[in-house]
Amino acid sequence: MTEPVQVVWFKRDLRLRDHGPLSRALAAGPILPLFIWEPSLLRAADWDALHSRFLGQSLVELRAGLRARGGELFVRSGEAVEVLESLQASGNLAALWSHEETGNALTFARDRAVAAWARSRQVQWTELPQHGVIRGLRDRTGWAARWEKQMHKPALPAPERVRVPQGIQPGPLRAPDLGRDDVVRDRPLVQTGGEAQAWETFQSFFAGRGANYTRAMSSPLEGATACSRISPYLAWGCLSIREALQASEAATADLASRGYRTESGEPFLRASPRSLLGRLHWHCHFIQKLESEPAIEHRCFHRAYEALRPAEADPARLLAWCEGRTGYPLVDACMRSLRATGWLNFRMRAMLVSFAAYDLWLDWRIFRDYLARQFLDYEPGIHFSQLQMQSGVTGINAIRIYNPVKQGLDQDPAGDFIRRWVSELACIPGSLIHTPWRLSPLEQKETTSAAYPSPIVDHVTAMRAAKAQIAALRFGGTTLAEARRVFVQHGSRRRRPDPRVEARRARGVETKVSPTDPDQLRLAL
Ligand SMILES: Cc1cc2nc3c(=O)[nH]c(=O)nc-3n(C[C@H](O)[C@H](O)[C@H](O)COP(=O)(O)OP(=O)(O)OC[C@H]3O[C@@H](n4cnc5c(N)ncnc54)[C@H](O)[C@@H]3O)c2cc1C
Repeated sequence: MTEPVQVVWFKRDLRLRDHGPLSRALAAGPILPLFIWEPSLLRAADWDALHSRFLGQSLVELRAGLRARGGELFVRSGEAVEVLESLQASGNLAALWSHEETGNALTFARDRAVAAWARSRQVQWTELPQHGVIRGLRDRTGWAARWEKQMHKPALPAPERVRVPQGIQPGPLRAPDLGRDDVVRDRPLVQTGGEAQAWETFQSFFAGRGANYTRAMSSPLEGATACSRISPYLAWGCLSIREALQASEAATADLASRGYRTESGEPFLRASPRSLLGRLHWHCHFIQKLESEPAIEHRCFHRAYEALRPAEADPARLLAWCEGRTGYPLVDACMRSLRATGWLNFRMRAMLVSFAAYDLWLDWRIFRDYLARQFLDYEPGIHFSQLQMQSGVTGINAIRIYNPVKQGLDQDPAGDFIRRWVSELACIPGSLIHTPWRLSPLEQKETTSAAYPSPIVDHVTAMRAAKAQIAALRFGGTTLAEARRVFVQHGSRRRRPDPRVEARRARGVETKVSPTDPDQLRLAL
């Protein structure tokens, strides 16, 4: 490299459209589009070959897109500083461009190391915001307005031409941890990566798949089709949240102009696009929490809850939950489905965590990484915040304990989802499937359900014990002050805080069982 180049470091932003660092770097000179497979991230407890596979697919498309424009995607394996250092040593690296990343402690430390390296080499590193997340924010006042502004800036088109330096090896696309193809073969239901897939998925939602979204989103069976399914594309940046929002607004206006009918004339529930737009707002709202307080990866939002549950797991309970063998049919079906597909709808994710946190009394940090590995859409800011909310340790949210039998009767009344994923129960007719422990020994024999475990705990007893433990926490002035701190730093300003409600919440008094509202966030942060 003799001519000075601008390195564009692709991280969780594997796309050509609406890519600020790419556009800005291209305006400054020839670029070196770079992706780095970092061993420390690939080895981390929250990483799975599932993620590598999705990234690999996205990189194939990214490279093809860059080549079609006269460019190239350069892929390297190694720690970021080492890779950048070797690029610098072999040529003229003028500047480094990337999006800001709100990741886990590892990527945070890595970014600090890169910043120190860039300073030491006098390389200008420019990080641009990729979401509506604001760096250096002290509290949430005015956040929503700033988010709106950021989201409604014009989205950038994909570049027409890309000029890259000659004579540099592109490097293999494959992740170093993917020696075998078994992940692909074993999990055919996992979504495929790439910008084109992202748009296809998005468009199919508005073409009709999402017509019943608002009504069907909480059902584990119908939700898989009716939900947008764009989460992995947002998480790995095949689609920008700005483009998703703007395209959703445009598609909503189209639907409205046709009287809420699709292009083929099928009815589309008026509330569905609105529900989706609301959730796109939550995306950044949750990531902002981690950006503002990186400690929430390891610590409870409200410090009084730090020692609520034992730090060590009961290994038998944890294993049964992880393997989908708790004896509660819907819980087990959800876990088995998640392990096979890499996805689950919001309500069922919340129920899985509620079961682990209240029925099994497991600390959220014990299963944080396990769930991160199962979710193809693993997004640290959403993940850590949601785990804490569903475990009741934020200090400012209502505590929600889901009744797994009631959820089964409400969300999978005929038991079809359970039958699909829990083969031991496939022969149990009708709603009996939700309480297989009530079958007589003869019925168990006839339905071959004897292989299915008995309930690992009694839900009602476990729920009472959980409530008693929460009530036993000692609350005082400092606890209330802490709840206020959490609210000021992280809480939504959509509702005014009511000090009496805050006080009751801080005491864990506001307890709801099996909420009927689908998203529970209306009340929440
Ligand atoms: C314990 C737990 C962990 C979760 N971990 C993640 C995670 O790692 N990554 C992730 O993207 N979502 C996570 N969620 C939120 C939510 O379950 C998923 O975003 C959603 O199920 C993804 O499917 P979808 O794209 O079809 O969503 P849709 O319902 O179609 O929503 C569209 C988009 O809105 C955003 N969104 C939806 N619900 C939420 C929410 N509650 N909070 C924040 N953003 C939301 C997502 O970006 C989603 O892709 C978690 C929820 C729980 C309860």
